[in-house]
Amino acid sequence: MPRDAPSPVGAGSALLKVTNIETYYGPIQAIRGVSLEVPDGRIVAVLGANGAGKTTILKTISGVMDPRKGQIVFDGREIQRMSPDRVMRLGICHAPEGREVFPFLTVRENLMMGAYTRRDRDAVARDMETCFGYFPVLQERQHQRASQLSGGQQQMLSISRALMGAPRVLLLDEPSLGLSPILVKQIFEIVRRINRERGTAILLVEQNAHIALETADYGYVIEVGRIVMEDECSRLMQKDDIKEFYLGQKDAGVRGRRRWKKKKLWR
Ligand code: ATP
Repeated sequence: MPRDAPSPVGAGSALLKVTNIETYYGPIQAIRGVSLEVPDGRIVAVLGANGAGKTTILKTISGVMDPRKGQIVFDGREIQRMSPDRVMRLGICHAPEGREVFPFLTVRENLMMGAYTRRDRDAVARDMETCFGYFPVLQERQHQRASQLSGGQQQMLSISRALMGAPRVLLLDEPSLGLSPILVKQIFEIVRRINRERGTAILLVEQNAHIALETADYGYVIEVGRIVMEDECSRLMQKDDIKEFYLGQKDAGVRGRRRWKKKKLWR
């Protein structure tokens, strides 16, 4: 359910603040000056089509890729170009696209991998119980290899492994990918619970605009590496362009042409 959220922009208290990042794959520029904010305890979504640059934004935040330009500030500290390991230790944990679990490790071992930077054993054990509470099937199958799980269960494991790092910000890359509508609903209910019960801020990137807008407080729309629109999700849902191009609701009005103007470029 969407909640009333103050606009992160200008709120001055963003836990994670990304400013004008540009990220390349060799000579190919994937991200063209993206800025966004994730306030503490909120859910923020980045919507966009295939290849728009969503995954690259998350990889740049988590340190898997280095931006060529721009700044990423987490809890008052610049983190761009830090190693993924350091970023994780600071409290940003990433559940990557395609549920990249360790197939030959058991479910339990996968979860322990998520906590490898932690020394607080009791808290780690408690967090594992919490994950099992969210996804009981993981407890039932904790001694089986991850490769034996279904796609939905692997997604649950991927999210849980990220939670085992005790994140303050959880980066979720397309949790709905390849899952049935029922599983998508279940997984997003848990995403909302994680946010509500643990106060974890979540940056969610999704092609499934319906579920992302229902789940998040605030949303950004990205096209070809640029943010073209942003607003509270309750307002984004009402916009004609979003209805037409992302929610599949066509009105009798102008079709086939985006009405938004290009957002300011930050160069
Ligand atoms: P998807 O939903 O398909 O993952 P996305 O919005 O997450 O899409 P990205 O994966 O971030 O998009 O890709 C952004 C752009 O960068 C695309 O044009 C893509 O083709 C390109 N790209 C992604 N990975 C590579 C790579 N390893 N080498 C070269 N170009 C890449």
